[in-house]
Amino acid sequence: MKIKYGKSFKDIFEIKQSFFVQNDEFLKRQNYVGKVYSKQIRRKKCKACNSKITNEFFTSHNVKYTICKKCSHLNGLYEDSNKFCDVVYNKSIGQNYADRYFAKNLKLFESRKNNIYKPKVEFLINSLGKSVKKKSILDIGAGSGYLLSAFLDQNFKKVEAIEPSDKQVNFCKEVLTKKNQEPDLIKKISIDETLDYVKNTESEVVTMIGVLEHLNYPREMLSVINKNLSIKYIYLSVPLFSFSVLIESCFTNIHNRHLGGSHTHLFTEKSLKKLLLNYGFKPFSEWWFGTDFMDLFRSIDVTSKKNNNFLLSDKLKDMYELIDEFQKVIDKNKLSSEVHIVFKRK
Ligand SMILES: [Zn+2]
Repeated sequence: MKIKYGKSFKDIFEIKQSFFVQNDEFLKRQNYVGKVYSKQIRRKKCKACNSKITNEFFTSHNVKYTICKKCSHLNGLYEDSNKFCDVVYNKSIGQNYADRYFAKNLKLFESRKNNIYKPKVEFLINSLGKSVKKKSILDIGAGSGYLLSAFLDQNFKKVEAIEPSDKQVNFCKEVLTKKNQEPDLIKKISIDETLDYVKNTESEVVTMIGVLEHLNYPREMLSVINKNLSIKYIYLSVPLFSFSVLIESCFTNIHNRHLGGSHTHLFTEKSLKKLLLNYGFKPFSEWWFGTDFMDLFRSIDVTSKKNNNFLLSDKLKDMYELIDEFQKVIDKNKLSSEVHIVFKRK
């Protein structure tokens, strides 16, 4: 099995600038979402392995979380109920969530795609070989179509994407049209229709980049994939229970980029692989990298500036060069804030 570690933070530093500048705005929104979340019914079973979760908990920004004794999955103590998802994804708050990932013009779209999504496509090519360009691929939860567009840039022949948000689908169609590509490669499929769509797809590869953790019923999705024998590979990325979680729980005035908001649970290597194995898929190729140290630096930087300690903020700037090296230690130990894995049917 191929395992790759690390990715330079410089690729995304510019793009993630809003997390520094708009900290207070994001924090306010996150605290609101956390309050709504904490009013939902109690989560009784682990999102990953379905075993009973215990009462022992830790808090991060006033929200309670626990660790599954069986599979080590990090679970928020409450359900991500329909009402909660409505607040996070659809209502005014959700509008902001979509906006944050919604590049307003083509130039920003291209820059985000090339820095974040092109490397994801390259990783898939390195994992499955160049012949993957001829395989049929379904991108589930495509957002504004960054991955789809990155696939098309690399001459993938049979890709399609589905996404529940009207706004994002329409934006993607506009981008594809501008680039003389087929706008119907992305379809609006509501959340209720998604399982059916996946059940009937003839695609050999399904991709879910940052999707599994947002699904109300991740196990149902994997069960549907398991039963559709056309699907041979799952390429996914998920956020992980990592060093970032510890940093975030200590900096109460800093917006959590990782745990909190729409992330009510986080995977570990064990919980993710166990879950996929349960549904007939084993890891084929892995890429471990994260932004834990960028989160730490961001937290120190914003806090220092809040305290008018600009001299400390300057000192920190001298150390930015070291972020990749610090992070690599975390990545190499598979403790990073995210992972990309290509799973293959057993
Ligand atoms: Zn579990």
